[in-house]
Amino acid sequence: MATLIQIRDLSKIYERGKQKVEVLHHINLDIEQGDFLALMGPSGSGKTTLLNMIGGLDSPTGGQIAVGGEHLADMGAGALARWRAANVGFVFQFYNLMPMLSAQRNVELPLLLTKLSASQRRKNAEIALQLVGLSDRGSHKPSELSGGQQQRVAIARAIVSDPTLLVCDEPTGDLDRQSAEEVLGLLRQLNRDHGKTIVMVTHDPKAAEYANHTLHLDKGTLVEQATA
Ligand code: ADP
Ligand code: MG
Repeated sequence: MATLIQIRDLSKIYERGKQKVEVLHHINLDIEQGDFLALMGPSGSGKTTLLNMIGGLDSPTGGQIAVGGEHLADMGAGALARWRAANVGFVFQFYNLMPMLSAQRNVELPLLLTKLSASQRRKNAEIALQLVGLSDRGSHKPSELSGGQQQRVAIARAIVSDPTLLVCDEPTGDLDRQSAEEVLGLLRQLNRDHGKTIVMVTHDPKAAEYANHTLHLDKGTLVEQATA
């Protein structure tokens, strides 16, 4: 398998006034194309910071990150935004759906950045909703859906542009056990059957079992620990 994500000597320092906080220390990590990686670690250990840099939402203060051979630091803001739209799907703990829009419209949103026609956008969103098992909920607003269903809509939105990479930040953190298992089963299916590379931050060892392997972050340093 080819390496999709190559992280070299990655550091992140936040400056709060005069105080400097080094959140990530010289991280080295290769993530293979088609991998499903779980990232665990205590609160404040830098998981979200690392995930956001992998997805091109944030930039490092030191070191390099390349995805599919492209160095993110070399891209300007516009190029990076286009790269993200084409290559990365984001799934967050609290879904981040637009409350006024139907499930179908929420899923279509990322496609507004593309050249697809309105009917093609609608069609692609329908396919994505079908994939997450919510074909019959397209006209529902988020408030008319359960938490697990809302997260599946968010996953449909994340995959509607057919990105290579899914980054998920505690995607089951706000769900009951059964909904969490549905969402995790869906992520596993997207990994196994659709070849999506997934990096998932989680607090939950049961959630991490769905991944192929687990890495632990501790105070900004990576520690590998074997799971299954
Ligand atoms: P985790 O997701 O593992 O809980 P985060 O990556 O969110 O950890 O945060 C790691 C550390 O970086 C925390 O101490 C947090 O307070 C700090 N931090 C995160 N974002 C910022 C920011 N924008 N400015 C300053 N400090 C930040
Ligand atoms: Mg976090």
